Amino acid sequence: MSQPRKTTEQIAAMREGGKILATIYDGLKKNVVPGMSELEADAWVEKEIIKHGATATYKTPEVNFPNAICISVNEQIVHSIPTEYVFEKGDIVSFDLVITYKGMKTDSAFTMVVGETPSGAKKHLLQYTERSLLAGIEAIKGPVYTGDIGAAIEKVLNDGKLGIIRQLVGHGIGQEMHMDPEVPNYGLKGSGVLLRVGDTIAIEPMATLGKEKIVTESDGWTISTKDGSLAAHFEHTVLVTEDGAEILTIL
Ligand code: MG
Repeated sequence: MSQPRKTTEQIAAMREGGKILATIYDGLKKNVVPGMSELEADAWVEKEIIKHGATATYKTPEVNFPNAICISVNEQIVHSIPTEYVFEKGDIVSFDLVITYKGMKTDSAFTMVVGETPSGAKKHLLQYTERSLLAGIEAIKGPVYTGDIGAAIEKVLNDGKLGIIRQLVGHGIGQEMHMDPEVPNYGLKGSGVLLRVGDTIAIEPMATLGKEKIVTESDGWTISTKDGSLAAHFEHTVLVTEDGAEILTIL
């Protein structure tokens, strides 16, 4: 299924919202240090969202998540509820945030190592997962199918010998947080849904240093690797243009 078309004004609102989200992340990256708790990070993000005149989409009744942002640590992959947990040096932490601005949604995620420059296996995990996101975005050229994006992501993650989370997928976004089409992080070129100029999608590879199996924790939200291996998640909201893609969630 394709997504409903958006007006020029709606796309402009997503461009503005994406910049707000990127600005918040820019500040968050500088703020997260060992000794900070997840709830402190969440409160800081929520304050910033409000300051910019946007809304924390997760807290709205449609999603009904208890906090403004998902904060997933180490073997946690996505959707984790912020707790009193205090970040430790060397934790790998994924942040995932959706905001609504002028009625339009943008979605972005990144993973960082707390309090130190990534090295070794952690660096490898972060580099290849982020690189796979960029490869997925670069695959958007001319007529493009969701399978072209998935194939490009899958190739990079396979090159990096990482586990690919296949049960969670990217998605259309705009008027709603989750819209058609689905954008899997694997696939065959020329398969899936043909994207159109003006479509907006969230591309979000998730990868692990171990196997691909996932489990949902007892809180009903947090999704973790089954084997306890470290996971990473990078995501941008992008606009399909005449000659490629425009990343909306960057400065
Ligand atoms: Mg998303």
